[in-house]
Amino acid sequence: MLRSVILAAARSQKVERLVETAPVSRDVVKRFVAGSGTGEALAATRQLADAGLCITLDNLGEDTLTAEQANATKEAYLELLAALGHAGLTAPKEGGGGVTVATAEVSLKLSALGQAFDEQLAEKNAREICEAAAGLGTTVTLDMEDHTTTDSTLDILSRLRRDHPGTGAVLQAYLRRTEGDCRELATAGSRVRLCKGAYKEPEHVAYQAPLEVDKSYVRCMNILMAGEGYPMLATHDPRLIAIAQDRARWFDRAPDEFEFQMLYGIRPEEQTRLARAGHTLRVYVPYGTEWYGYLMRRLAERPANLAFFGRALISKK
Ligand SMILES: Cc1cc2nc3c(=O)[nH]c(=O)nc-3n(C[C@H](O)[C@H](O)[C@H](O)COP(=O)(O)OP(=O)(O)OC[C@H]3O[C@@H](n4cnc5c(N)ncnc54)[C@H](O)[C@@H]3O)c2cc1C
Repeated sequence: MLRSVILAAARSQKVERLVETAPVSRDVVKRFVAGSGTGEALAATRQLADAGLCITLDNLGEDTLTAEQANATKEAYLELLAALGHAGLTAPKEGGGGVTVATAEVSLKLSALGQAFDEQLAEKNAREICEAAAGLGTTVTLDMEDHTTTDSTLDILSRLRRDHPGTGAVLQAYLRRTEGDCRELATAGSRVRLCKGAYKEPEHVAYQAPLEVDKSYVRCMNILMAGEGYPMLATHDPRLIAIAQDRARWFDRAPDEFEFQMLYGIRPEEQTRLARAGHTLRVYVPYGTEWYGYLMRRLAERPANLAFFGRALISKK
């Protein structure tokens, strides 16, 4: 219920203005977002890399409505990739079970590159970013957004993969279709991020009960771990992490043949613990000024974060 209210607020421009202008928002945002520009993103990446973690960077922004905005997002990614390359953060790591696993890569939302009004433009922009990434030895992962975009995103992914096979997919366990998509994508060299899913989706396309989503996650994980691709298990859920470690033993996957992923600012001690235990742990690092939609999804996932927001508000009064 609370999750639905927050996700509905995520689409309200009135609430957006209110939250964006509240002075307290800055403190809350700092916990989940690495900064507003390339310099701050680079500094956060360096710090995480020095702690033995891998990184995927997201230039915040979604639902772009003009070609100019889409172009500006593309340029921001090109600037970021050049800076990462210059800093020596894009070199592929050892291992990876036959796929490119770089210290730092980028994640992008096709909606930020124009998908909603011109799919070809979004694909062209994404292709340019993939080319720049490949030139520096690193990769791109296409974030997955709400279910109305799933087919379009997977179609664009398959075309990008013809030239850039390392391009990563994201599949959401809450969607009823996802077991089938996992089977399709569990092929040699295929990087697939599995997450629970962060959008408000209708019952006919998505499981609603958390237990049903968790069970679907395990079924999907089994398919990916048994397959020939490179699973990227994106979750903070301790039970799912333990099951993943068990499946890795069962399917005889070495630690460099899959990775865990978590969000910047969420369970940081667990991130370091898993990396020290020999796993590849990649942190999803968002940066930029358009943090509203991202922040609201993080608040919706955990009411305790709402309390954190409330406490910060009170302490400012
Ligand atoms: C690397 C990465 C990339 C992602 N990419 C996408 C994407 O492309 N598309 C998409 O729809 N979703 C994406 N997500 C979000 C994902 O779908 C979930 O909404 C989110 O990860 C929460 O699910 P969970 O698996 O951590 O489990 P949950 O059941 O939400 O949480 C399990 C436990 O993790 C901790 N936790 C979880 N969330 C928070 C939080 N916000 N604050 C504090 N603690 C928390 C708590 O201890 C909680 O009990 C991504 C997530 C990650 C980690």
